[in-house]
Amino acid sequence: MIRYALKCSQSHSFEMWFADSATYDTLADQKLVSCPDCGSTEVKKDIMAPGISSAKGQEAQSLSPRAMAEAIRKVRAHVMSETTDMGRKFPDEARRMHEGDVEPRPIRGEATPDEVKSLVEDGIPILPVPPEPPKEN
Ligand SMILES: [Zn+2]
Repeated sequence: MIRYALKCSQSHSFEMWFADSATYDTLADQKLVSCPDCGSTEVKKDIMAPGISSAKGQEAQSLSPRAMAEAIRKVRAHVMSETTDMGRKFPDEARRMHEGDVEPRPIRGEATPDEVKSLVEDGIPILPVPPEPPKEN
């Protein structure tokens, strides 16, 4: 497992774990890495700078709720169109892909918190699909 400090196009800094650098590259290429703050998939590796707070990052967090909801909808639409829904078979299928039993492809589905924990512990790259933002009015 490798931990990356990432930064999105809105200058939000966050950290995420990946199985290895190739996994990060693949997920980032497919825009499956999204900022937990705004849902932006324009993320870059950030330079690790522990203890240094960036005043710039604070100013950039002025995304309106409407723009934020829009960004989340875009990420959801992208994930939905690029992945196959495995439903409850998702944890098994993700594991089989990781172990090379089946051809890797982007999938989504349901997993219990325990299943998610066990997949992550085994170095299987999974990401939460952001929840549908509330409808306006
Ligand atoms: Zn962001």
